[in-house]
Amino acid sequence: MSDFYPQLGKTGMSRRELLGKIRKRVKAARFQHMLAVEETSGELAEQYGADVSVAKLAGLLHDYAKELSKDEFMTLIDRYHLDRDLKNWSNAIWHGEIGWLKVKEDFPGIQPEILEAIACHTVGRAQMSLLDKIVYVADYIEPGRDFPGVDEARDLAKQSLDQAVAFETAQTVAYLAKQRFPIYPETLATYNAYVKFLRES
Ligand code: GDP
Ligand code: FE
Ligand code: FE
Repeated sequence: MSDFYPQLGKTGMSRRELLGKIRKRVKAARFQHMLAVEETSGELAEQYGADVSVAKLAGLLHDYAKELSKDEFMTLIDRYHLDRDLKNWSNAIWHGEIGWLKVKEDFPGIQPEILEAIACHTVGRAQMSLLDKIVYVADYIEPGRDFPGVDEARDLAKQSLDQAVAFETAQTVAYLAKQRFPIYPETLATYNAYVKFLRES
């Protein structure tokens, strides 16, 4: 494995430094999950013809902001003049939709495509790049995941990334509705844009 991620830009940070920085921010179990998403993102990138090193770095960093406090997210919303409605949501939404700004602050010069993939890794987008889809799906199917439907998601990811995005989003929407949780508008937009891939399959 290369010791450097050129995508970290001018910082020239080594992998060792990078992992050290991540480890300080998240608990051990989450750190392992992030390493697993790095690996799975790399595999999907190879399979679907994306840049493997970019995909791995996006996968590795995707949950970087998962353990920020509510106060830290509120400060970021104010600092970057984000939509105030965001304040009505929770960490589940914030760590992607706002978390990418923390990644940008801590890793200046990182590729914007990586920040975008981090931003949408939880809720998706109606239009997603190949990299966005890879991280979105890898987060769901990495080997440590164990929940109903994960094996079907893994099988679909081998055939079609769009079908895997659609399946994952449909599962999430159904789960959230069953739990009587609010569904973030972007999650529904992703569902509406991708559900056709399931209807056609
Ligand atoms: P993780 O960060 O690796 O645990 O995975 P994700 O970033 O994909 O998801 C974090 C949490 O967000 C999960 O518990 C999802 O059920 C939840 N989530 C995803 N979409 C929505 C949504 O639209 N609304 C709400 N309330 N929660 C959501
Ligand atoms: Fe996440
Ligand atoms: Fe994750």
